[in-house]
Formats: sequence, C-alpha cells, structure tokens
Amino acid sequence: MVDELEPSADENDRASNAEFAHNQDALERVRALAKPETDPDFDGCHCVECGEPIPKARLALSKVRGVTCQQRLEDLAARHGR
Ligand SMILES: [Zn+2]
Repeated sequence: MVDELEPSADENDRASNAEFAHNQDALERVRALAKPETDPDFDGCHCVECGEPIPKARLALSKVRGVTCQQRLEDLAARHGR
C-alpha cells in the first residue's frame, strides 16, 4: 500500500506551489513599485499621467509619475490585486 502515500504527497506539493506562487506575486508587486520606471511619454521631469512637474526626490528614484498619480495607481493595484 505504498501507493497510498502518493496522493497526499501531491496535495502537499500543490499547496506549497500555490503558496510559492502567491509569494512570488507579492514580491513582483513590491519589485514593480520599487524599480526604476520608464514610459515612452516621459519627458524627464513631468508626470506621464497628469503632466505636473515631478518632485526632484521622486525623479532621483526614476519615477515617471507624481505622488498623486502614483498613489492612485497603487490604490488601484491594491484593489485589483486583492
Ligand atoms: Zn500626475
């Protein structure tokens, strides 16, 4: 009856795989927020969403959006990404 061990081993694999995927997902989101941003419409100093000048501190972080637009984007992502 060694075979009876197989299904539960599979279940465990599936569970940890799902968990892993979930963690990867969260990691990707954090990474996406932290990584330097680019946008074909970015002119180097104005928000790609609303055209407002971006604070120098944000430009230094390679952001392409102002604080307001970034916040709106993150709110949206949080809502959609559960
Ligand atoms: Zn903006």
